[in-house]
Amino acid sequence: MRCLWLEGGALSSRPDVPEPRPAAGEALLRMRLAGVCATDLELRRGYLPFTGVPGHEVVATVEAAPSAPEWEGRRVVPEINAPCGACPECRAGLPRHCRSRSVLGIAGRDGAFAELLAVPVASLHPLPEGLADEAAVFAEPLAAALEVLEQVHVTPSTRAVVVGAGRLGQLVAQVLALTGCSLAVVARHERQRALLRSRGIEAVEEQDLAPRAADLVVEATGHPSGFDLARRLLRPRGTLVLKSTYAGSLEVDLSALVVDEITLVGSRCGPFGPALSLLERGLVDPTGLVEARYSLDAGLAAFEHATRPGALKVLLRP
Ligand SMILES: [Zn+2]
Ligand SMILES: [Zn+2]
Repeated sequence: MRCLWLEGGALSSRPDVPEPRPAAGEALLRMRLAGVCATDLELRRGYLPFTGVPGHEVVATVEAAPSAPEWEGRRVVPEINAPCGACPECRAGLPRHCRSRSVLGIAGRDGAFAELLAVPVASLHPLPEGLADEAAVFAEPLAAALEVLEQVHVTPSTRAVVVGAGRLGQLVAQVLALTGCSLAVVARHERQRALLRSRGIEAVEEQDLAPRAADLVVEATGHPSGFDLARRLLRPRGTLVLKSTYAGSLEVDLSALVVDEITLVGSRCGPFGPALSLLERGLVDPTGLVEARYSLDAGLAAFEHATRPGALKVLLRP
């Protein structure tokens, strides 16, 4: 089959990779639409050592599901994490933290930038008829944005700031806006600002914000530099949510965090069910983020597009 292939930090377009063979309990999916995410770009830079097909944001049709034929032909979104179901984390109800999980297109499992992919049947979410592929393809990053609300108590009186208005920052902003909190989003690019305004969300520049005034800052820049700004905006005893993952490490003055009694919250994957429900009801509309569509064969160009400063969502079609 045709796919994008990542090996040793180099991405290539290949016509000759064997089709995946679904293991027991797995389904074979045919990709309909896949999104390029910052994690894919960071994987290529060596964020994690991964060899195989990247891609974890996907809408697909179930091609075959030998153990669950009722799924065949259905339009689905698969969860990104495939948990073992037996380890202490799984038994404690934390399957997304399963110690022996595979992660679609990131760790131990080939991903979605391919004609076909194999995933556990248990990871499938059926899509309602009225939900378009171009909205549903955001289920995974929207779930990750929703994780902030799973972790932090946000009320209408919370003064929240999102630092970074790229792919994930936009979704985090839309999710926070649902709470009625006071919200400002630091956005560098005009297109990002326009998109925020179109959703009734205040877009600001760094210098517009008072230092040490926010109760909650979500860092979603995808760059180590975002941390400093996020930190400066936070009041003592505030909460700093970190959404960015990137290759390399960050130098942090931890003593200052101690003195200001800052709560640091790492935040990764979130719940798919609520994400799909918000999309279906139109309470979150990510389709304005779609910036370009490429065919799988032009996948390398799609990656280059996604690395442009301020680029929003780039999609791949089979
Ligand atoms: Zn992602
Ligand atoms: Zn497990």
